[in-house]
Amino acid sequence: MANNPFTLGIAAGRLSSEVLDRNFADLHPPLDRHEALVAADRCYFCHDAPCVTACPTTIDIPLFIRQVATGTPEAAARTIFDQNILGGMCARACPTETLCEEACVREVAESRPVEIGRLQRFATDTMMARDSHPYERAEKTGKRVAVVGAGPAGLACAHRLALHGHEVVVFDARPKPGGLNEYGIASYKTVDGFAQAEVEWLLGIGGIEIRHGMRLWDGLDLDELIKGHDAVFLGIGLAGVNALRIEGADLRGVDDAADFIAELRQAEDLSDLAIGRNVAVIGGGMTAIDAAVQSRLLGAETVTIVYRRGRDRMSASRYEQDLATSKGVRIVTHARPMRVIGNGAVQEVEFEYTRDGATGLEGTGETFRLAANQVFKAIGQTLKGASDALHIDDGKIRTDETGRTSLEGVWAGGDCATGGDDLTVTAVAEGRDAAEDIHNSILARAGTANETLRPGIESG
Ligand SMILES: Cc1cc2nc3c(=O)[nH]c(=O)nc-3n(C[C@H](O)[C@H](O)[C@H](O)COP(=O)(O)OP(=O)(O)OC[C@H]3O[C@@H](n4cnc5c(N)ncnc54)[C@H](O)[C@@H]3O)c2cc1C
Ligand code: SF4
Repeated sequence: MANNPFTLGIAAGRLSSEVLDRNFADLHPPLDRHEALVAADRCYFCHDAPCVTACPTTIDIPLFIRQVATGTPEAAARTIFDQNILGGMCARACPTETLCEEACVREVAESRPVEIGRLQRFATDTMMARDSHPYERAEKTGKRVAVVGAGPAGLACAHRLALHGHEVVVFDARPKPGGLNEYGIASYKTVDGFAQAEVEWLLGIGGIEIRHGMRLWDGLDLDELIKGHDAVFLGIGLAGVNALRIEGADLRGVDDAADFIAELRQAEDLSDLAIGRNVAVIGGGMTAIDAAVQSRLLGAETVTIVYRRGRDRMSASRYEQDLATSKGVRIVTHARPMRVIGNGAVQEVEFEYTRDGATGLEGTGETFRLAANQVFKAIGQTLKGASDALHIDDGKIRTDETGRTSLEGVWAGGDCATGGDDLTVTAVAEGRDAAEDIHNSILARAGTANETLRPGIESG
C-alpha cells in the first residue's frame, strides 16, 4: 500500500482493501429469525399506534410486527409492500429515529424503541429472497403512462400504475435505475447491490419498460410525452446543486458532495477512489454527513463539517450527527465560508463565525482558517431545467395534495415537487398517491366506475 491517511494532497488507496471492506460493511446488519422474534416481542401492538401516524407511507406497523411475531414474515412483508413497494430500501435508509421509532411508545417510556426498521428489513428481505413477485396485475387497460425519473417516486408510481393494468414507460437520464437509491444513499446503508436488486424485483410486476439516457428538456419533450400518453408523472428529483458563491470556489479540489457520493456508489474498487488528507464539508444535511463519514471511511486524516447555524438547526438528525462524530468527523457550527484559498488547488478555507441577529444570520467579524485539500459543497440541491409551462414554488414544481401540477395531465412527486421533506419514504408515498389519482382520472375519463383497487386486498 503506497499511500496512507497522512499522504499529502488528494490520493487513492489510503487504506488497505480489508480495512475498506470493514469500513463500508452494513451499518445495521440484518436480524436473524430468533433476533427478529425477540425484537417483535417488544411491541405492545398499540391501538391507534403513533408509529403508524409517523410513517409517511402509513404502514400498519403493529400488524406487520405481529405477523413477524407469529412466524409469518412473508405476510408481514405483504403488509409493508401494500403501502410501500420500496419497503426494503426504506428499512435500510429511513431515518427511523425521527419517524416511526421516535414516535414508538417504548421510545417515549424507556428511550429504547421497538426496532421497527430492522424488523421491516427482516420481513421484506425474507419475501424478496423468494424468486417471485408477490403482486399480480389487474386486467390490461390499454392506457399508457409516461413516468420521468426512475428514482423512488417514479418507481413507486410506475409499480402502482402497472398493478392497475396500465402500461408504463419510465424515462431516466442516468444509465441505471433507482435514482438516489443507486447514486446517493450512503454505501454502508445499502450494501451488496441492493438498489439494483430491488428495482429488478419491483419490475417483476410486468408492464413497466425503463428507457435510459432520456433527459427531459434535453431531447425528451414534455409536450410530446403529454400527446403520446394518457398521463405523465414527473419524479425527476433535484439534479442541480447550489453554487458556492465565494472567492476561490472554482479551485481544484472544491467538489460537489453529491457527485463524490455518486462516484463512490459506482466505484468497483474503493481503493481506486481518491480522497483528500484534510477534508472540509460545507453544509448541515444528510448529504454533508454522508460525504464526511465516507471521506473518513476512505482514510482521510481529518474531516470537518462546517455549518452556518447551530446543531439543532441541522437537517441531519442527531443520530446522523452522532454517527459522524463516532467516526471521527468534527462538526463546527455557527460558521460560514468566506473564501477558498490556494494556488491552483485548494489549501485552506476561511470561515467567519455567525450568530442569529435581529434580521437573521449575521457574521461576527471573527474569522478562522481550516486546512483542506478537498472541500465538499453540500449546500442543497436544486431543480434542473424545468419548463416555463409548470408553476414553480420555492424552486420546486407546484403540486396539490394528489400530485397534480399546473399542467393538465401532468403529475409530480418526490424531491422535485412541493410539499415533501426530501426523504426516500416520502418520495415513495407521493409516487404511490399520484398513481392512484392518475388511475382514477384515467378511469373517470374512460367513463368507468371510479373505484380504486386496493392492492393487497383485491389482487394477488
Ligand atoms: C447524498 C444523499 C443521501 C441521502 N440519504 C438519504 C437517506 O439515508 N435516507 C433517506 O430517507 N433519504 C436520503 N436522501 C434523500 C433521498 O435520497 C431522496 O429524498 C429521494 O431519493 C427522492 O426520490 P425522487 O424519486 O424524488 O428523486 P431521485 O432519487 O433524485 O430520482 C430522480 C430520478 O430522475 C432522474 N432525472 C433527473 N432529471 C431528469 C431529467 N431531466 N430527465 C430524465 N430523468 C431525470 C434521475 O436520474 C433519477 O433517477 C439522501 C439524498 C442525498 C442527496
Ligand atoms: S408504537 Fe411501538 S410498541 Fe406501539 S405498535 Fe408501534 S412499534 Fe409497537
